[in-house]
Amino acid sequence: MNILFCASEVQPLIKTGGLADVCGSLPKVLQAQGHDVRILMPAYLSVLQKLAKPLQTFPLAPESGGEPSQLLESRLPDTELPLYLLDAPHYFAREGNPYGQPNGEDWPDNGARFGYFCKVIAQTALNQTGLNWQPDILHCNDWQTGLVPALLQSAPSLTRPKTLFTIHNLAYQGLFPQSLFEYLQLPAELWSIAGVEFYGQLSFLKAGLVYADWISTVSPTYAKEIQTTAFGCGLEGVLQERSTRLRGILNGVDYDHWHPEKDALIAAPFSSEDLSGKVKNKLALQKEMGLPINAKVMLIGNIGRLVPQKGIDLLLELIPALKDRPIQLVILGSGNLEIEQELAALSEQESSWFRFHTGYDEGLAHRIEAGADLFLMPSRFEPCGLNQIYSLAYGTLPLVRNTGGLADTVIGWSPTKRMENIATGFMINDASSADLLTMLDLAIAVYKRTDTWKKLVINAMSKDYSWDQSARHYLDLYRELLA
Ligand code: ADP
Repeated sequence: MNILFCASEVQPLIKTGGLADVCGSLPKVLQAQGHDVRILMPAYLSVLQKLAKPLQTFPLAPESGGEPSQLLESRLPDTELPLYLLDAPHYFAREGNPYGQPNGEDWPDNGARFGYFCKVIAQTALNQTGLNWQPDILHCNDWQTGLVPALLQSAPSLTRPKTLFTIHNLAYQGLFPQSLFEYLQLPAELWSIAGVEFYGQLSFLKAGLVYADWISTVSPTYAKEIQTTAFGCGLEGVLQERSTRLRGILNGVDYDHWHPEKDALIAAPFSSEDLSGKVKNKLALQKEMGLPINAKVMLIGNIGRLVPQKGIDLLLELIPALKDRPIQLVILGSGNLEIEQELAALSEQESSWFRFHTGYDEGLAHRIEAGADLFLMPSRFEPCGLNQIYSLAYGTLPLVRNTGGLADTVIGWSPTKRMENIATGFMINDASSADLLTMLDLAIAVYKRTDTWKKLVINAMSKDYSWDQSARHYLDLYRELLA
């Protein structure tokens, strides 16, 4: 099968969240199974700096009145995966992350940038960009690629690949004024409530949902949740209509990067048979974060974007109350500036037990996963979530909310049932600080029962969320699409 993956971020080249992890891992696994998989992404400045000279270049016809651009062929680092980069310097050769300026604000021309990206993907899907290669399956991811299925809908079905649109987060919709629709010169028939229009605006995400041959999202529970008003972000009706073409496939984990026995970024390797290394990681993390060195105290970790989705505000509210509990807390994150400032102030004030590190730090993320005892993830919604799966692998029991991929990957401990042989973490139902505190206290109590805790750790570490199984589900879906 020829498969083209399109995404706005791909690990290890550029990452702001789980989307990049998926787009850097799944293609590798599919290629290893004998498929011709290629990736197409924008050539951001920082990505070009990480890659060697391109193997080939393919000039593109300029947009009307636009600047020249080209596709560069390269390889995804440490793989044999062909990688095509859309080199349109006027759109992508900028400092900052894929979507925003260094000051954190979105680029004002994101609609034009990703609109152009979508057009080039559609041309590539029709073998019109000189690659002399055409995919059977075009796998689009999130709103930045949402227009592609709409652009391909008028192509005769024999000339175009089948399209799969994967939702990694329904909350990010790519909404732009109607004027962008005109600027991009999109076919007039797309502008309707049954098309790309969403309350008078152009929605890239809705375009993907309406026009893709199939839709998937990154966990079975989230696939159900997004068809309800509570989680559908206004698109629940569209998703209900397409429910026979909507599937939830859980993300896998790249255990080459996230494995406590071979992780080069952590202080000491460990396994479920020999947990002594885990304690070494804990002591090293305490030292690195400037916390008192103490193997006995429960060390709690949290990593993620500082946005309400992740329930970071629930945790923030609790911090003063946690002061008298026998714990240490380490938070790594960036995002909302106000939350960053409040966490930084508390970190100063409560430095004997709480440290906050702002910014994006891959190494520290690994060291927190390895060194913490408990990982907090009280998300209000969570399409899949990866950190709780990394936590399982590192024997760091996740305390999560019963939603989306968290519900699909963690088995919550309950004192009323005999859970020792199956529980892999702790689970709360409500997104409230009160529930979080109650469950945290329960976790603290279980932590004191060393044997029980160890059993839970071993249960967690025995779980396998490798990509093989998820890749099989994607391949089944691709085959269904081609049948
Ligand atoms: P989302 O995609 O909603 O941000 P996921 O849990 O699916 O959440 O994936 C987040 C990924 O980004 C994980 O690999 C996590 O380790 C990483 N990550 C998030 N914030 C940071 C940070 N500040 N530093 C390092 N890694 C981070």
